[in-house]
Amino acid sequence: MNRLKRCGVVVGLFTVFCIVFTAFVSAEKADSSPYKNPELPIEERIEDLLGRMTIEEKIAQVSGKDRMDTRENKRLGIPALKMTDGPHGVGWGESTCFPTGVTMGASWNPSLIEVVGRVLGREARAKGRNVLLGPCINIHRTPLGGRNFESFGEDPYLIGRLAAAYVKGVQSQKIGTSTKHLACNNQERDRFTISVEIDERALREIYLPGFKAAVCEAGGLTVMGAYNLVNGSYCCANRHLLLDILKKEWGFQGLVVSDWGAVHSTNKSAKGGLDLEMPGPGEYFGDELLKAVKNGKVSEEILDDKVRRTLRVMFLLDLFDGVDPKYRGACDTREHRILARRLAEEGTVLLRNEGGVLPLNKQSIKSIAVIGSNAAEAQMGGGGSSTVRSRHSVSPLKGLERMCEGKVAIKYAKGCMMPGEMTILPSTFLIPPDGSKQTKGLKGEYFNNLTLSGEPVLTRIDEKVDFDWGDGSPAPAVNNDNFSVRWTGKIIPDVSGKYELAMLTDDGCRLYLNDKLLIDSWWDHALETHRGTVFLEAGRPYNARIEYYEKGGGATAKLGFVAPGDDMLREAVEIAAKSDAAVIFAGLSWKVEGEGVDKANIALPAGQNELIKAVSAVNKNTIVVLINGTPVNMEQWVEKVPAIVEAWYPGQEGGNAIANILFGKVNPSGKLSVTFPKKLSDNPSYGNYPGSGGRVHYREGIFVGYRHYDKNNIEPLFPFGHGLSYTTFKYSDLKIDKKNDLIKVSMDLENTGKRVGKEVVQLYIYDCESSLARPPKELKAFKKINLKPGEKKTVKFELDKTALSFYDPSKKGWVVEPGKFEVLIGSSSRDIRLKGGFVYSDAIIWD
Ligand code: BGC
Repeated sequence: MNRLKRCGVVVGLFTVFCIVFTAFVSAEKADSSPYKNPELPIEERIEDLLGRMTIEEKIAQVSGKDRMDTRENKRLGIPALKMTDGPHGVGWGESTCFPTGVTMGASWNPSLIEVVGRVLGREARAKGRNVLLGPCINIHRTPLGGRNFESFGEDPYLIGRLAAAYVKGVQSQKIGTSTKHLACNNQERDRFTISVEIDERALREIYLPGFKAAVCEAGGLTVMGAYNLVNGSYCCANRHLLLDILKKEWGFQGLVVSDWGAVHSTNKSAKGGLDLEMPGPGEYFGDELLKAVKNGKVSEEILDDKVRRTLRVMFLLDLFDGVDPKYRGACDTREHRILARRLAEEGTVLLRNEGGVLPLNKQSIKSIAVIGSNAAEAQMGGGGSSTVRSRHSVSPLKGLERMCEGKVAIKYAKGCMMPGEMTILPSTFLIPPDGSKQTKGLKGEYFNNLTLSGEPVLTRIDEKVDFDWGDGSPAPAVNNDNFSVRWTGKIIPDVSGKYELAMLTDDGCRLYLNDKLLIDSWWDHALETHRGTVFLEAGRPYNARIEYYEKGGGATAKLGFVAPGDDMLREAVEIAAKSDAAVIFAGLSWKVEGEGVDKANIALPAGQNELIKAVSAVNKNTIVVLINGTPVNMEQWVEKVPAIVEAWYPGQEGGNAIANILFGKVNPSGKLSVTFPKKLSDNPSYGNYPGSGGRVHYREGIFVGYRHYDKNNIEPLFPFGHGLSYTTFKYSDLKIDKKNDLIKVSMDLENTGKRVGKEVVQLYIYDCESSLARPPKELKAFKKINLKPGEKKTVKFELDKTALSFYDPSKKGWVVEPGKFEVLIGSSSRDIRLKGGFVYSDAIIWD
């Protein structure tokens, strides 16, 4: 190379070096912004970043971008906050479906819930999400609550323990939680409009402690404001809840996110403590809030506070610095499935076991009749936003077949149709009004009004009436909502006999046969089946006219039938009579319990009472396994059936868990986290639900759940805290030692049976002398103890002033009054085994 060339190369290299160096230096300069420096304290970084944001950029942070994400800010490198539904699985693609909240409640096992939380966090990470929208901790106030299955139960202390464990577990994976729904979202009926009228004491003692535990104890990063109003003010604009209590009193530094579409105002919500409007784009916190800040109606400090909170959550989740690779995501692994099964096992409650029918013994039981729709279909959860799509699931029937393979013969019969199930009347039965026998189906005329009036916007032949349009429309010409349909034609049966015709619709419908009204549900309703019975002759055409309307929400219209001789009940009884044991899987399903609707009553629907009575009459080893999220009325058969198991909605591994319990591979240890009433009218909310004129009065005050049954001496069907075991436990040697403000309680628990088992020791307190009415007992501590046969352990509890206190509205604070307190220790709230007491001599007040 000559000198000139060499020189050129050197110059070239130098130029490249200069470009690279300059780029490096300027990048270095940009990166040296304090907010990008992981070494600096988070609050300093937040202030620095906030100082660099324009008002428009701040606004962009407080209203979502789309259904689950907030907006990213490319200029400043602010990432999107990505949320996903929970609470019992990650609602983002396919993931592990854990048992629902009520099973978690019935496990009475905070350490297990913490592990489940950890796994939920790991699954959320695998899906690239940052915040899991759970736990759901609303109190089970009425057994009709459509979403009760999502939350833990009726007792604030139990809920607080589990909520804190859940939050700690999820957040240990650098995934945020959103404890929901603050507050008093205890019914689905009118959830968008109802105002809960509640006194301060009930609010503080019953409805808020779970939130306080999630926030103050576990450091929950976000809280979700509920749809409803509390004392006349929407929860997402409720200063008392969000500002006075959550942010000021409890010192919450995280983010208040609205429930989806729960915001109704700009100024009020902005000043009332809401930080983030979801989903996006926000109607109230977008341009409207920008205007309000620009014209001074909402101060920039208020906006800054919201942005600070959003950024704080993101910094705490390491979204700016990149998450440590040790927080690895994983989804639907073998370990996760095992955990789902374990939780289902721990939450399953043995309600009754007369004569030791359970556990089933493979030596003596050689054949089992498995009965019920809920046996063949894995009912993993209730309906609505919490639905988890799992890759696979184990139905109870599958679980039992696996357990019994080669040893016990299993026969299955459905027994009856569950709500929402039907056999669709096939097109071979239907011809249009002017059609020949070759044309199949009915003429469908579709109207863009609710009353079938005017000219139809669409006329077509529908081969059968089997439609589930969801939120959509039947065809482009037809509205999504507010439409009606008339189907006409002839039904020609193939055999003579008594037929049952059924219409499953949402909303109303009428079915006429030869101009006679056979089915009528012409009112607004959620998915409901209405039936009529009629004798039909083979080959004879019957004029059919079906009228249907859809007002709002999901749209479904199905025409089903039961042919003569199709006797599901008889089939079930027959197999039960020939088997050594019969297991009936009864209860509810996601079609009955879910978001947006409450149940109409606590009846066991769809002929299941008759089924249970008929089967138990022919098989003395009948076991009823209930799959449901809320109590059902068992009056007609509770004494006739020797064994009853409450399995709730047990998640994707439910079938295996139930088989393990029924065959004694696992000893049941779940306890009810809700009282099962004998009848609906026994429930404390009865008469004060669902409210009227836009208000529901919580007149029962603090007497929710067992507090009410105890106070009014009402015997429940199964009490709060109840749950049997295959072994027995002896309680003895209660010691109470009061030193200053601390009360130390200890007792001995012994496994006096022949199997390893877990017992939940429950400690209740009764304040014998009090200026305000107090419940006869309140749960203040519990421990789940595992014991081998013959093993004995000393169980210890420590109680402080919070366990003795009540909220005194006149003093605006928590109060302990001097006087006598009783300590009640039991295996359930109605099975108290040990009693003691102590005297408290100080008077204490705090807020
Ligand atoms: C529910 C929330 C849920 C949200 C997002 C709302 O309808 O009430 O619990 O997290 O939807 O799906």
